[in-house]
Amino acid sequence: MLDRGPEALQRAREHGVAIPGFTTYTLESTRAICDAGTDASLPVILQAGSSSFSGVGRSMLARAALTMAEESPSPVGVHLDHSTDLAEIRACIDLGYSSVMFDGSHRSFEENVSLTTQVVAEAHARGVWVEAELGAIAGDENASSSAVASDLTSPEAAAEFVERTGVDALAVAIGSVHGISDHPIHLDLDLLGRIAQVVSIPLVLHGASGLDDEELRVAVRRGIAKVNFNADLRRAYLGALRDTIDLAGGDDVVAAQRAAIQAMKQVAYEKLRLLAGDTSPMTEESR
Ligand SMILES: [Zn+2]
Repeated sequence: MLDRGPEALQRAREHGVAIPGFTTYTLESTRAICDAGTDASLPVILQAGSSSFSGVGRSMLARAALTMAEESPSPVGVHLDHSTDLAEIRACIDLGYSSVMFDGSHRSFEENVSLTTQVVAEAHARGVWVEAELGAIAGDENASSSAVASDLTSPEAAAEFVERTGVDALAVAIGSVHGISDHPIHLDLDLLGRIAQVVSIPLVLHGASGLDDEELRVAVRRGIAKVNFNADLRRAYLGALRDTIDLAGGDDVVAAQRAAIQAMKQVAYEKLRLLAGDTSPMTEESR
């Protein structure tokens, strides 16, 4: 079913677990992400945003995501990731998205507060929850490139930002980067702990592909309730296509689709289980 409210995220934060948000680009990735959530009996978030729209267009990708979410036996959120465009945010709210992210992280603090507040007012009036970002998460969302973390989130600014905007979830810059970096990436877990002490809403980690599992688990226990993955799924997708095309003589589309779905589903399932923990109350409740 389409999971509308932010309550699943709030419960996740209370229980020290997290819900993954996976970027979807195609029908195959949308199918794989929904099926992984069903197999794990855990909530999952489909992220169909600006970057994915540039491949096949907004309307068809968004409608496919919403349809598969509604048909799914387990809860699936449909989320607009990293939008800087109010017209795009309004279009996705009109389409029926359950949540949107307004990314004002490259603007001044005051501009980010003001625009986020406006998005929150419009979205909440339509029953849609909002993620915002403070501090800047480096790197490119669509392609793995060398990136280094910069401009980390300040706990004091985060507390003021959440208080003034009424936002539902906050993406924090604590050392992760989008894509897969050339250098080993480590999170500033001490900084995360200080942010979590003064901000009680669910915190969001972007750029988690390639992070060490144990580090991720600690971050989740310290307040990260939503974790965005993209690069890991993309690699599984294209790797499966390459292998199948070679095996099938290069013309069996359905075999390639099935292989791609299976490969992405496996990665998504493993991330779902990792973020839920094996013995957490969240897992018990969702089963
Ligand atoms: Zn991001």
